[in-house]
Amino acid sequence: MTFATLGLIEPLLRALETLGYQTPTPVQAQAIPAVLAGRDLMAAAQTGTGKTAGFAVPLLQLLTLEGPKVAANSARALILCPTRELAEQVHASVAEYAQNLPLTTYAVYGGVSINPQMMKLRKGVDILVATPGRLIDLFRQNALKLNQLQTLVLDEADRMLDLGFSEELANIYRMLPKKRQTLLFSATFSDEIRLLAGQMLNDPLTIEVSPRNVAANTVKQWVVPVDKKRKAELFVHLMRKGRWKQVLVFAKTRNGVDALVDKLQGLGINADGIHGDKPQATRQRALDRFKSSDVQILVATDVAARGLDIEDLPLVVNFDLPIVAEDYIHRIGRTGRAGNTGEAISLVCADEVNMLSAIEMLTRQTLARHMEQDFEPEHRVPDTDASGQVVKKPKKPKKPKSSGGGGKRNLGKWVDSGEVAPAEPSIKPVRKVPVFNTGPRKKK
Ligand code: AMP
Repeated sequence: MTFATLGLIEPLLRALETLGYQTPTPVQAQAIPAVLAGRDLMAAAQTGTGKTAGFAVPLLQLLTLEGPKVAANSARALILCPTRELAEQVHASVAEYAQNLPLTTYAVYGGVSINPQMMKLRKGVDILVATPGRLIDLFRQNALKLNQLQTLVLDEADRMLDLGFSEELANIYRMLPKKRQTLLFSATFSDEIRLLAGQMLNDPLTIEVSPRNVAANTVKQWVVPVDKKRKAELFVHLMRKGRWKQVLVFAKTRNGVDALVDKLQGLGINADGIHGDKPQATRQRALDRFKSSDVQILVATDVAARGLDIEDLPLVVNFDLPIVAEDYIHRIGRTGRAGNTGEAISLVCADEVNMLSAIEMLTRQTLARHMEQDFEPEHRVPDTDASGQVVKKPKKPKKPKSSGGGGKRNLGKWVDSGEVAPAEPSIKPVRKVPVFNTGPRKKK
């Protein structure tokens, strides 16, 4: 299949060729014809699957071929995104796809002055990318009318709900014309998403290009158990040992980000941080410097790092596990994008065992554990598996310490998650089998 066989017009084909897109990704192959046919869409696609082009390319074609010229203070299509960074990124992609078309595009979001945005909207824009809060502000100040709106895209809808935007979405919903096309994209389909879809979508085509809630299988994932107070030390140790060059690190809180960045910088490591408390310009600068490899380690909270597309990012480290299990999928989706392979390492302490268990249940796989020598935790991280079970007490081997492991819990070698079929929860977790991989065994 080619983009031409999907019925795209020549200026779009030329733009895609310039970008080096040769064949449509699965989500594009399904979404493009459906959007061109005017259908509403409910699409579950993993991050990095090419979903942006999946909705933006056919949308650009419809706007080029159909509908009136955009009126003053109006938009013909609206793409809603959960964060400023994502809005910028989606806008950059849309502008690239639109490079040969006579359409205008623009992005608006909070954290920066509203006045230039109001000025820019005066002439109207064909495609407006926006975060929900700023969109409502602009609407309330009469800088934006939505009666010309043909298409609404909800990008990363699950994340918008996680970030507490459900009220804003309900408000926006009331501002929209009844007759419109709506495209909903979400990494995962929760019950809330299905409810939102029920309200917003009209006879949608459902696209699910990957099994539900399964993390990208191009990402090798593993866990290192460690005591909470030694996480930073372990991070530096692993970084030096693995000679990490470019790492995106997730921490739970803004303070956590700042503390780790301070510590790394204090050691002379080239690190920077992004979180919601920092001004937009600072966040963008840190991100740009990370993308251009001027910064080696970027530490971020989930809000700041959502949806970012960083070319060839080899490694994501979860310094803390996310409180919402779905965020794990988004985080590790920053690596292993567009067919590349990636690695995701989680530093997990005993307090986080329930989060680990929730992640394993959601992704339907038991994450391999790798015990790092000299960092074995004093507070043991209880066993978990993809059934959601947390084994509170360590199971004692029948013959304690007689099998040569010196009390060491397995895991000199770990299983690549790519070897574990995610859809098969019954797969055996390696660490539940004592002395599993200490060499060839008599049994069997
Ligand atoms: P997205 O999931 O939209 O964030 O896209 C992930 C990455 O894949 C981006 O860097 C896109 O430029 C790239 N991409 C999207 N579609 C294609 C395609 N058909 N061929 C090659 N790369 C693509």
